[in-house]
Amino acid sequence: MIILTDSCPVCNSKDIEIKTIEYDFPEIGKSLLYIFKCNSCNYRTFEIIPLEDRGYIKIEYKIDNIEKARKLFLKSPYAKVILKEIEIEITPGIESKFEIKAIDDFLMNIKNNLESFKILYSDDKEKYNKIIEKINYIEDVLNNKRELTIIIEDEKGLSKIY
Ligand SMILES: [Zn+2]
Repeated sequence: MIILTDSCPVCNSKDIEIKTIEYDFPEIGKSLLYIFKCNSCNYRTFEIIPLEDRGYIKIEYKIDNIEKARKLFLKSPYAKVILKEIEIEITPGIESKFEIKAIDDFLMNIKNNLESFKILYSDDKEKYNKIIEKINYIEDVLNNKRELTIIIEDEKGLSKIY
């Protein structure tokens, strides 16, 4: 999190500025927007910390056609995401941020992570095959050949598919 940092993540310089702005975002409500700027290498980034708590929500979203895979997914830092049919669970961590992505990009990302991950299991045939199965399944979903259920549990109710 940039608010906890005292140096630039790119060049390590301590000549940094962090500006805080309170902002009312249409989708996520009142939030603090932190803008980070490094005076040394000019790196800029930002982070949004939501101030609203809309209460726990659970969204179950079935992707059974290509149009549904093209919807936008606003994922809050508090969201736990489960891909039901392939038993993948992504839990929120301290580094979690607001992300906005099309569902198919989100799935593509998971697939790429699995791809780079599978080498770790090259000596465990069973686990290795399981990962390959998941990769193939995601590919089939992206090619509109199989269905996938995404379950989003958000303790602050800030995630959305639209
Ligand atoms: Zn820098």
